[in-house]
Amino acid sequence: MRRAYNSVLHLPQLSTCPQCSAPFVSHRVCPACGYYKGRQVVAVQSFA
Ligand SMILES: [Zn+2]
Repeated sequence: MRRAYNSVLHLPQLSTCPQCSAPFVSHRVCPACGYYKGRQVVAVQSFA
């Protein structure tokens, strides 16, 4: 009775941000620039 626990740990789909071209989880706000669906929804503090 061995269960494949790999099926539980499904990896989220990664997309490339059109704004900053950083990989991020699709259907989520880009953690790098805070953009989602072409508009900034989260203010990202950049320490430049
Ligand atoms: Zn981005």
